[in-house]
Amino acid sequence: MTAAAQASVESVLQSLIRDVPDFPKPGIVFKDITPLLEDAVGFRACIDALAARVSAHRPDALVAIESRGFIFGAPLALHLGLPLIVVRKPGKLPRATESVAYQLEYGEDRLEVHADAILAGRRYALVDDVLATGGTAAAVIGLIRRLGGQVACAAFPLELGFLDGRARLHEVVTESLVRYG
Ligand code: AMP
Repeated sequence: MTAAAQASVESVLQSLIRDVPDFPKPGIVFKDITPLLEDAVGFRACIDALAARVSAHRPDALVAIESRGFIFGAPLALHLGLPLIVVRKPGKLPRATESVAYQLEYGEDRLEVHADAILAGRRYALVDDVLATGGTAAAVIGLIRRLGGQVACAAFPLELGFLDGRARLHEVVTESLVRYG
């Protein structure tokens, strides 16, 4: 992608992402992606730009994180012609799973993947909606590696740069289309 095309995707995304102050709690500025999803031209530009970034890292499959990661992961997988592997909240996947626990601001949460979905030595691109603290993505990177997979890259439409999430991603190449702060 040329620098001009990159700048134009960035400005389209910025115009279609709404800041919602004090959601879900006081002091948080929530990045609302629903206007982007409601704009077919902007959403397509976002998926096209993500596809260009992700394909450069030659993944064999995509791994998308529940739930907003699915919104971007599914069209991206179709666009790239790659398998889509879903990482879900506990109890949602029917076959044998491997799981990972990770810290939330208060307490702990857990994510699961089908154990036979990640193949040793294959390259996986992680996809989620927003890179914030990086806690969720770091946990899933650990899960992929525990099952023997390689993490080709981690890709996000949005990054909250001031939270320095990419520092937590264990030296995985991190791609984002719009970076705040
Ligand atoms: P994290 O593990 O902190 O990188 O963030 C986990 C998930 O929380 C992200 O993938 C987003 O779905 C969501 N999230 C965190 N902070 C924000 C924010 N300021 N605006 C929108 N979504 C957020």
